Amino acid sequence: MASSSSSSNSNSPCAACKFLRRKCQPECVFAPYFPPDQPQKFANVHKVFGASNVTKLLNELLPSQREDAVNSLAYEADMRLRDPVYGCVGVISLLQHQLRQLQMDLSCAKSELSNVNSERVSLIGFIPVIRNLQEFVCLYPFNFSVRHTI
Ligand SMILES: [Zn+2]
Repeated sequence: MASSSSSSNSNSPCAACKFLRRKCQPECVFAPYFPPDQPQKFANVHKVFGASNVTKLLNELLPSQREDAVNSLAYEADMRLRDPVYGCVGVISLLQHQLRQLQMDLSCAKSELSNVNSERVSLIGFIPVIRNLQEFVCLYPFNFSVRHTI
């Protein structure tokens, strides 16, 4: 499977070179990150950032940093095309809003849990009283009615 994909990659130009209609050289800076089976990825990046800017950016980075940079550019380009005004900032602010909401929900849940725990502690104080009542009812089953006493 790996050999078939590598042979197809060596035979066909990367998505960037195919889009730009140029020959894909063995040292092509785009080839590892824009495989031929993902043509839209490069099209989006080119439309938003421009191929020459992306080339400059990738050449300035260490090879170990390029994949993260391309993934970031591809995501940002995709979001910018979906939302031309806010781009990925729109998603980030939405997620921040959800995060704040969840933090408030968590705070409320912790507060409720604290209240339940304090009620449980106060109810534990009634256990000896309830046991005494049970013993009393067992001893005097015909003369005691809880409903009338309380
Ligand atoms: Zn190429």
